[in-house]
Order: sequence, then C-alpha cells, then structure tokens
Amino acid sequence: MNRPILYGLVAGLSLSTGFAQSGLKPVINQSADAIESKVIAWRRDLHEHPELGNQEFRTANIVAEHLRKLGYEVREKVAVTGVVAVLKGGKPGPVVALRADMDGLPVTERVDVPFKSKVMTEFNNQKTGVMHACGHDSHVAILMGVAEVFASMQKDLAGTVKLIFQPAEEGVYTGGTFGANRMIEEGALENPKVDAIFGLHINSQTEVGKIRYRPGATMAAVDQLTIKLKGKQTHGASPWSGVDPIVTASQIVMGLQTIVSRNVDITENPAVVTVGAIHGGIRYNIIPESLEMIGTIRTFGDAQQALVHRRIKEVSTHIAESAGAKADVEIGIGYPATVNDPALTDKMIPTLEALAGKENVIISPVATGAEDFSYFQKKIPGFFFFLGGMAKGKSPYDVAPHHTPDFYIDESGFTLGVKALSHLVVDYMEMNSKPTPTSAKAKKVSK
Ligand SMILES: [Zn+2]
Ligand SMILES: [Zn+2]
Repeated sequence: MNRPILYGLVAGLSLSTGFAQSGLKPVINQSADAIESKVIAWRRDLHEHPELGNQEFRTANIVAEHLRKLGYEVREKVAVTGVVAVLKGGKPGPVVALRADMDGLPVTERVDVPFKSKVMTEFNNQKTGVMHACGHDSHVAILMGVAEVFASMQKDLAGTVKLIFQPAEEGVYTGGTFGANRMIEEGALENPKVDAIFGLHINSQTEVGKIRYRPGATMAAVDQLTIKLKGKQTHGASPWSGVDPIVTASQIVMGLQTIVSRNVDITENPAVVTVGAIHGGIRYNIIPESLEMIGTIRTFGDAQQALVHRRIKEVSTHIAESAGAKADVEIGIGYPATVNDPALTDKMIPTLEALAGKENVIISPVATGAEDFSYFQKKIPGFFFFLGGMAKGKSPYDVAPHHTPDFYIDESGFTLGVKALSHLVVDYMEMNSKPTPTSAKAKKVSK
C-alpha cells in the first residue's frame, strides 16, 4: 500500500512544481480549519430553507454562485436543479468527482435551534413541514467548503476536480428518472470523463470524529413489491363456494418469509422481504373477490437481487395457484445496492486513517437503507462513507435517527468531512498521475 508521506509544508511555501499531491495536505487542513465557521453558516442557512427533491432552486443558486465566484466552470439545471462544476488543476492527472445531495424531506422539524426550518408545504395531499431531516444540508455545505479549499490551490492540483451537487436523492413521485440516475443521463460523468467518485453521508448516530465505511456492498438495493391476488367472492358463512384471497394472502406472507431464511445465502449478505400493507375486504361476512399486498425488498448485489425476485414470483404465484387463486406479481425496481469498489476502497482507506486516526475509521455492518450514489458506482469506481455527526459522549440509542422530526447534527464534525473529501482527491490524484519530469523525484520519495 502506498502510504502518503507528508512533506511538512508550511503555508506560504511555493507548491508550484515537484511536489507530490499529498504534500498539499497541510495546506488543505489549514484552509479547512480556517473556513469552518463559513461552512457552518452555509449549513445553517440551508437548514433554515430546505427544499424538496427537484425543487432545490434556492440551494442550487447559492451553490452555483459560490462556485462561479471561485473560478469553477459551472453547469446548472442538470437533472432539473443539479449543479456540476469543474476545476481543472495546473498539472495533468485524473478527473475525480465528489458528490453532495441537496434535498430535504417532508418532515416537520421539532428541534429547537435558531435556524429551525419553518417551511411548510403540501405533500401527498397532506400539509407538512419541510426539513433537512437526512442531513443533506451538511453535505452541500461541506462540498462548498471543499470547493473553496481546492480553488486556492488550483495550479498545484495534478488532475481535475468535478463537483456534483445532485437533487432528489430521497426520490420524487412524478415518474421518470431523477436524482443521481438522471444526472448521469444528462452527462454529469462526461466532459470531462470522471475516473472515480467519492461521497459521504453525515450520520446522526455516529460520533463526531469517526468515519464508518464498508468495502463492497454497503447499502441495500430497494425494490417495491405489489401482489394483486384474485380469488372468488362468496358469503363469509360459506367459504367453500368461493376462493378466499385473505387466507391465500396469509399463506403467501408466510411463504415469503422462507425466501430469506431458506434461499438466501445469509453468510454472504442479508436480505429483507417485508409485506407492509394488505388492502382487501369490506365487511365481516363477505369473503372478497381480490386484494392487494405491497411491500419492500432489500438486497445487496445483482445475483442476490435476481434470486429474491425470482423466488417472490414463484412462491406467490404457486401458493395462489394451489388455492385456486391468481397472483399477479409486480416488482418496481428502485435504487441499486451501494457497492464500494473493493480495490478503490482498499487504496483509499489509509488516507482516511491517516487523517482521522486508525481507531476512528470503523468498518460498519451493511445498512438496509438505500442511497442513489449507487448509480454513479454502477458506472465508475466509487467510494461512499459515513461521517460522524453525533455529539461526543452521546449514545446512538438516545439520539434521533435520520428522517425524524428530532434529527440533529453536531456541526463540529464538518471540518473532518471537508478534509476527508479533499485528502481522498489529492491522494487519488497522486496514485493516478503520470509523473512529470519535475515531479519524478518527489514521486520516488513517496513510494
Ligand atoms: Zn435520507
Ligand atoms: Zn440521505
């Protein structure tokens, strides 16, 4: 493993030629520390003005204006409200992308802070507050900070930095593609073509100063299950003259439980099949004609996903058949699994360990939640990690999880996020740049 060596640079020293990219780290750290209060102020402003997916107009404007001022080449309105910005370094090297998602959630904030969100909206025909209840405000602010750090050292960068501010990670319900998927469709990974991508998610239940990650499958693929079951209506007192879809649905629910327990190799990865709702029937003494079951499926890789989907269809249709009923199974494909490229993860972990301390970089179990960063990782090698946002000394069991009205992020973890993303970029550049004659000597020293 090529462990980056710090060159002990002091601020003000010229970095124009001959230095390995890891030599930029002390300067990165200094500027990240210097802009901490700015990053926090950006986050508070964004927190007070959250916007739902594909409506991040104000957020995108703030981002675009900031990046333009810093000298980035800025493309707006990518995938509705997305912003893609490019900073070409002074030396040749790879194109490294960093991604932040920008959307808030239909949650009414209960946290008593001066920058509490008072935004209200209508969502699914219900009046609701809007809140950054997943911490995407932190992601935007941290990446704005990274943008500023890199702008100050543009001529020394051996490669190109591409910043991707993405809308609608939490999904939109208007059909079609959206979020990361649509950013890719609209060219976010092209011109210039991105070689690798990094992203982080702040976590309300991980202590500030700590970083959690997992090589390989990290977060689940999420698919939606709908089973339409058709029986034959009859009087509740004479079930023998009909086909009861309620009893059949019960058997199907039990049958689905055997997929994870009997078919999935749980030593590799877990999986989840949940039936979340059954809608059917109208009166106590009528056996209905039909009913509908809906649920969610969580899997951690293409092969496992295909197996679980196949078994759901087999189990449901055959149980229905055995009862004389008919099951129509529909599986709506959602986000793919978030899979950290194993080789890239292996190469980059020493960067995070050197920054945060080995004891603070922790391998975490798989998460059954989903994240559309996975679409980028399907196209190019990507690494996604979790950044601590819980106040020191608190217990993860006592603090509010994501997507809840009491969700709270301790801002003292942001600077580590700015440094982590920046260090990953410069180390990746160092590992993937062709040495120029002037930097050949420095390169040799670092190996
Ligand atoms: Zn979320
Ligand atoms: Zn999120």
